[in-house]
Amino acid sequence: MFYYPLREVSIMTIDLIISRLKNRYPPGKFNSRDPFRQLIATVLSQRTRDEVTDRASGKLFSKYSTAAALADADVSDIEELIREVGFYRIKAPRVKEIARIISNDFEGKVPDDMDTLLLLPGVGRKTANCVLVYGFGRDAIAVDTHVHRISNRLRLVSTKTPEETELALREVLPKKYWRYINELLVRFGQDICRPVGQKCGVCMIGEMCPGRRGE
Ligand code: SF4
Repeated sequence: MFYYPLREVSIMTIDLIISRLKNRYPPGKFNSRDPFRQLIATVLSQRTRDEVTDRASGKLFSKYSTAAALADADVSDIEELIREVGFYRIKAPRVKEIARIISNDFEGKVPDDMDTLLLLPGVGRKTANCVLVYGFGRDAIAVDTHVHRISNRLRLVSTKTPEETELALREVLPKKYWRYINELLVRFGQDICRPVGQKCGVCMIGEMCPGRRGE
C-alpha cells in the first residue's frame, strides 16, 4: 500500500485517480444545459436532493421557460411549483429577482464571468462555478460538500471550507480536469466515499488514499 502526503501527490497519481473515477462514472456532456436553467436549478438545489431539484425545476421551467417569463411570475405561483425544495419560500422570490436582473440588465443572457455572477442574489462561488462548467462548458471547479470532503480525505488539499478547497484544487489539479471533478466526486461521494459509512473496502482508489479506513 502506498500513501502520498498532500504536497507530494504526483501528477501520475492524480491522473490515475481521475482515470479510475472516469472509468466508473463516465462524465456527461458539458455545455449541454441552457445557462439560465442551470443557474436557476443550481439555486434551487441548495440543501436539496438532486432528484427533488430536477422535479421542481422541471415544473418551474415547463411554465416559465425564459428569464422574462419568470421575472413576471407571481411569487406565490413559483412557491407552488418549487415547494418540494428546501427553503422554497426563500428561493421563490430569489429566483424571481435573479430572473428580473438577467432579463432587465443582461438582455436575458446569463453573464459568463465569475465576478458578475457573484453579484446575483443567492449566488456564491459554487453556484457560479456550476453555471460556468455546466452552462458554458468552461474550465472551473465547482466545490460542494462531496468535492470538499473527498479532496481532503485524499489529501489533495488540507482545507476547512469549500471556498478554500476550490482555491487549493486550482493549484494542485491540472486544468484539464477542472470541469470534470465536480461530477466525478459527487457521484463517487454518493456511491462509495459517503459522508459517513464510506466503503473503503471496495474503493477503486483506496490504495492511493491516506484517509482509507480499515474494514
Ligand atoms: S479509501 Fe475510503 S476515504 Fe479514501 S477515497 Fe476511498 S472511500 Fe473515500
